[in-house]
Amino acid sequence: MSKLGGKVILITGGAQGLGEAHSRLFAGRGASVVIADIDSIAGLELAQELTAKGLVASFQKLDVRDGANWAQVVEDVMDRHHRIDALVNNAGIYLRAPLEDLSSKQFAEVMEINVNGTFLGCKAVAPIMRRLGGGVIVNTGSIAALVANLDGEVAYCASKGAIKMLTKAVASDLAKYNIRVNSVHPGVVQTPMAAEFFKNPELTRELLGTTLMKRAAAPAEISEAIAFLISDSASFMTGSDLVVDGGFTAV
Ligand code: NAD
Repeated sequence: MSKLGGKVILITGGAQGLGEAHSRLFAGRGASVVIADIDSIAGLELAQELTAKGLVASFQKLDVRDGANWAQVVEDVMDRHHRIDALVNNAGIYLRAPLEDLSSKQFAEVMEINVNGTFLGCKAVAPIMRRLGGGVIVNTGSIAALVANLDGEVAYCASKGAIKMLTKAVASDLAKYNIRVNSVHPGVVQTPMAAEFFKNPELTRELLGTTLMKRAAAPAEISEAIAFLISDSASFMTGSDLVVDGGFTAV
């Protein structure tokens, strides 16, 4: 079990889906989790639920596109906890539209949240982690960063591919400050984002058929991989891409 006790971990998109699973798992392992999400209702509810169980969790409203919002969230977390040990850039959106129908506005919107949101997160925590003598950033990619085997994922694939290389470039800049930066690339995971797929039996068959393990992941299976990257067990890992896809990209 990856050790997270005492760490302060900021999770974007922490209110729902994968982010919710990360919040639950990390808090359950003794971390202080900060759930940062654009959805205040779900975020507050989750923070209250975890706190009622005796865990350490709080909510911060954050739109990852907004640099000023990032600065204020980071300041609030520092006031409360005096440190940020890890940032999980998890917030993201999915859009499925074939190239012919995809507008540049839609393309820009996906890039703005998925890529610029991740970039702003790295920028916001880096000076603090540097001052503290180190830290960990985990960026959320996807199998869509590695393969483009489904029609209509032009914007999503472009954004996730960008996150993969952004991670390596940021890792290169921050290694001298003892800040490790890695990306995680989940396969199909049962979250509200993927619910659309599961409504379509043909698409479900196609996606799960290509997955060697013939099933979707439970969100906590991805959280475990991220917990490892945050923990000191991954002390020599930076700039890497950790693929957690049930074998989707293996064949
Ligand atoms: P989800 O839609 O279920 O949850 C996303 C969360 O992000 C929500 O809580 C939402 O409120 C929040 N969010 C959206 N826009 C935001 C913004 N501008 N600022 C702050 N928060 C915002 O999605 P999910 O399935 O949990 O996906 C989480 C991450 O994992 C995404 O980056 C996604 O691309 C990636 N991913 C998901 C899958 C999958 O199969 N579900 C597979 C690979 C990668």
